[in-house]
Amino acid sequence: MGILKKFSIIGILCLLFVSGCQKNPKNEVLEPISATEFVFNTVSMISVYENKGERDTEEIINEAFDLCVYYDHLLSRMKEGSDIWNINHSDGEAVTVSEETKHLIDKSINYGNLSEGAFDISLGVLSSMWDFTAENPSVPSGEKIKEALSHTGYEKIVISEDGIYLKDSAAQIDLGAIAKGYAADKVKEFLISEGITSGIINLGGNIVVFGGKPEGKGEKLPFDIAISEPAKREDAGVIGYFSLEEGSVVTSGNYERYFEEDGKLYHHILNPETGYPAESGVDSVTIYSESSADGDALSTICFILGTEKGLELIESIDNTEAVFIDSEGEIFYSSGIEKEIPYTKLK
Ligand code: ADP
Ligand code: MG
Repeated sequence: MGILKKFSIIGILCLLFVSGCQKNPKNEVLEPISATEFVFNTVSMISVYENKGERDTEEIINEAFDLCVYYDHLLSRMKEGSDIWNINHSDGEAVTVSEETKHLIDKSINYGNLSEGAFDISLGVLSSMWDFTAENPSVPSGEKIKEALSHTGYEKIVISEDGIYLKDSAAQIDLGAIAKGYAADKVKEFLISEGITSGIINLGGNIVVFGGKPEGKGEKLPFDIAISEPAKREDAGVIGYFSLEEGSVVTSGNYERYFEEDGKLYHHILNPETGYPAESGVDSVTIYSESSADGDALSTICFILGTEKGLELIESIDNTEAVFIDSEGEIFYSSGIEKEIPYTKLK
């Protein structure tokens, strides 16, 4: 049995072009100030192109990463004492959680309804069983999956006056499909509050850009966010770019976290009906949206729904666009996209 595990950040590559910096009196072209950290169990990067505030950019970036750690400790099902861990281990008792956790659970339930159950944050038992982040993951037995499925279903999550609880005490919440997007939105808010006027946040593929890329003469250019070629897992190249000045770009793909067993690939986005990795013929889907929490949820949803249903859903939501790449390598765009790959742009 050949087991292959790979965590790829190629799909989340951001091209950092040389940019002008306001603080440079001669208007010379300068690199942005960037830092990379391992948070949310993934590689994350923050780049600042322009700081009009009083404080040191490096210090602000460090605090932005502290904020990521804060959200990880609040929302991760794996971190003992997190809001989610507390709900999952309360034996069905109501747990008081932060307003933010409550908001995110509520939002996730709404996405569950919008996607007719494709998005399901109650898959924690299944996520633990598949354990895509383990050293040597393996396919769980059919029996075990069936047993786990009897403890899933987001209708088991209750938001009450006394707190949040699970009607089935063996069920478990997993916010893995939306937490990073939410944190990326919050990091953007924080950076802006500190006087940063242009930057890129990349939390494991949840990319938020703002302020445009300053160019030496005071002009703003779009940022180019790479979209990778999903089929080529090991040496995935770039198939094109999403060019934009402001907004979130999130990709869900079957090449992000996966393993191989008996010649078959198993990736980490699960179909809540079967308990197995979703097989909708989509290799990757990239979502543009204003909020990255929404983009994160929608990229997971569209991956599960497939091209046709996914596009239908995206068309029904304002200011939200999608690029699907199917297993044949065919590319599909929602109607608000003006230019096609290699330089995808919004209308
Ligand atoms: P990534 O976190 O790699 O960017 P996604 O945003 O698509 O990818 O989220 C995948 C994660 O979401 C999984 O690791 C798991 O924790 C969780 N998950 C898997 N299937 C579902 C689903 N059908 N609904 C909601 N969450 C899911
Ligand atoms: Mg997601």
